[in-house]
Amino acid sequence: MRLSVTRNSSMIQLSTRVVCVPQPHFARFAIALPLYRVFEYALPEDHPVMAGTRYRLPFTNGTRTGVLLGASLTSEFDPARIKPVQERIDPQPVLDQHMLSLAQWMSEYYLQPLGEVVFQCLPGYLRGARQHSSTRVKCWLLATSDVAQIENLRQRSPRQFEICQAMLARQSGLTALELKNINPNWHSVVRALEDKKILRWEWMERITSPPTASELPEPSPEQAQILGEIEPRLDSFAAHLLDGITGSGKTEIYLRLIQLRLDAGMQVIYLVPEIGLTNQLIERVNQRFGNCFAISHSGLTEFQRYQAWDRFRRGEASIMLGTRSSLFSQCDNLGLIIIDEEHDHSYRQEDGIRYHARDVAIKRAQMLDIPIVLGSATPSLESIRNCTRDTYYRYRLDRRPTRFPPPPIELIDVRNSRFDFGCSARIFERVEQHLAASGQVLIYLNRRGYAPIVMCHECGWQALCRHCDARLTLHQSVHSLLCHHCGFSQSVPEACPECGHDEVKHYGIGTEQLEQGLQLRYPQTPIVRIDRDVIASREALKARLQQLQSGEPCILIGTQMIAKGHDYPAITLSVVLDADQALFSASYRASERLLQTLFQVSGRSGRGDREGEAVVQTRFPEHPLMRALLRQSYREIADDLLRERSDFGFPPCARVVMFRADAIELKDALEKLEQIRAQLATAKRFDTLTCVGPMPALMTRRIGRYRAQLCLLAQDYQALRSVLSQVMPAIEELPSTSRVSWSIDVDAYDL
Ligand code: ADP
Ligand code: ZN
Ligand code: ZN
Repeated sequence: MRLSVTRNSSMIQLSTRVVCVPQPHFARFAIALPLYRVFEYALPEDHPVMAGTRYRLPFTNGTRTGVLLGASLTSEFDPARIKPVQERIDPQPVLDQHMLSLAQWMSEYYLQPLGEVVFQCLPGYLRGARQHSSTRVKCWLLATSDVAQIENLRQRSPRQFEICQAMLARQSGLTALELKNINPNWHSVVRALEDKKILRWEWMERITSPPTASELPEPSPEQAQILGEIEPRLDSFAAHLLDGITGSGKTEIYLRLIQLRLDAGMQVIYLVPEIGLTNQLIERVNQRFGNCFAISHSGLTEFQRYQAWDRFRRGEASIMLGTRSSLFSQCDNLGLIIIDEEHDHSYRQEDGIRYHARDVAIKRAQMLDIPIVLGSATPSLESIRNCTRDTYYRYRLDRRPTRFPPPPIELIDVRNSRFDFGCSARIFERVEQHLAASGQVLIYLNRRGYAPIVMCHECGWQALCRHCDARLTLHQSVHSLLCHHCGFSQSVPEACPECGHDEVKHYGIGTEQLEQGLQLRYPQTPIVRIDRDVIASREALKARLQQLQSGEPCILIGTQMIAKGHDYPAITLSVVLDADQALFSASYRASERLLQTLFQVSGRSGRGDREGEAVVQTRFPEHPLMRALLRQSYREIADDLLRERSDFGFPPCARVVMFRADAIELKDALEKLEQIRAQLATAKRFDTLTCVGPMPALMTRRIGRYRAQLCLLAQDYQALRSVLSQVMPAIEELPSTSRVSWSIDVDAYDL
């Protein structure tokens, strides 16, 4: 291998062996490879060292894109063996110094390869060698003020005249899209006018539209007090947690704070969970601020996301409204970061570079010395615990400015009940009551498909996935058994594949079956089902939700997708069908998650001018968590859970680092982790940590690979970091084989 390599840490260390060569510069580059090192290349003399600029680099037999991190006059390596760069891609840096520092921090904190982290901070569009392309729009304008010349066209060339007339009416010019509306064949007409020097074109910023909100709601006394407390703290770092029940006006506070920052000439990043970016919110921001905001989410193309990134970077958009990765938007004057629904799991990236956008955002705010506002009706235990720290402030919002409080959660005891497609008779009573009173009903069932279990009664055969340790779910609409983990599908067997018995049965209820059952039972009532099988895009979701907007009685069925973010005032009843499974889950997070779901789902009801109800059907009304729901608020139960975590020594009262490995054979995965464990054990203070494993992961086989894990739990965070910094270099250098892949997950979400 002719490439010379230096470890991450050499970025900040001074090299000890000084080789005195005046030129060229030895430059360090980040390359998107899963390797814990940076790469050195020679930079031509006439290249200014601009960190954050992309270069094309020779790499083994081909080329790679690298981001310049820094350069020096000396190298630890034999200068003769350092290859020159091939070509510079960007005239200006695409990542600023702050973003590079953030990437460096992420790489160190999350123990992820710097090269991959740096590329994670770029919009997907720029991760290859694509040139920066302009995101401005081409606008055509009149090039003449000679009205007579235009008037001349009226008779001779009506089509040209038509376009000129439109231009006269709009001095700011017309875009291609607008011209197309006037004349579908506008191209040739405009070209003719350009030839006559009547029209010219220019690159323009997107035409901005002003806000349309006529009247802003007067802040409620609670809101006014919170705004009054946050406003004087806007000029330095602090984390503000808005702990406010659903519909208590948190968004209204964000919007007011955004206004304050825009008034001060600053820009704002406003993050929402993947599913929280609803049209309702976009519309609300638009009314408030006009179109001076950029939107970025996974439903957009790479180029559209790049456009949003670029508009924000150039300051043309003052607000970046988007999901997780929008956090890596850059601008000159960031003045505030907002994380709505901060407890939401979608802020955590679980593949590729593992990070938690909320935590990175807090770090970013700290580095820039700006405030960050977190909001949730069901704050994460992490954030609740953080509020005991100095720079954290917690504010409570306990009232809805619009009429009714969220309904208390009511348990429906269904021990010894008969069920029809998962609903007990008492659920039907409620549903009918609310429909008769012209209310809308929401039924939450977090299981898509028709039935989750397919089996033979004779011999006990079960339909299992060939590639995962998981059951196959019956999907009747496509006559298939599907694996929800790997996508494997097979047709429904006519007879038992084991014993040949001619009846294969299914058990349990999914949304597909629920929809079918309700449709038969209530033929006159529109049933709107929302889950991943029927919603392929945001547009499809929007179309389905239109039914709810009408306010007419209907039943909304759905999975996670309907649990949060939506504000439909006509919903008066929320039903949770199957909460019981989570009560006995092996995950230590299960109760926190269940609690958040129950409070979020119940909070969808009673948001309009009628009081709402929320019911949970359970076979275990005596379970401590179920009993707590009846007596306590989210906050009180969360405090109890936090005490429990502290007693057991689980996060957030302890820190966790998980090593994971997967391979075609379990023994290979376990062996890799055994090697890692052996390295860890050589570190000083290792004995102060709890090390669990290596052992097979909870779902051992997934997508054809066996998975194992090694978990480090620490009460003492410093000890944990110390152990890792002692042995990570050795762990990174462990011989790698193509058979096993492994990864590190710092602050792993689950054990
Ligand atoms: P949250 O973000 O906590 O769910 P929102 O800010 O969306 O709450 O507010 C819920 C509803 O109450 C919205 O329809 C919003 O327009 C309305 N609202 C919020 N604050 C006020 C206020 N001060 N006066 C009147 N209506 C308000
Ligand atoms: Zn059988
Ligand atoms: Zn599978």
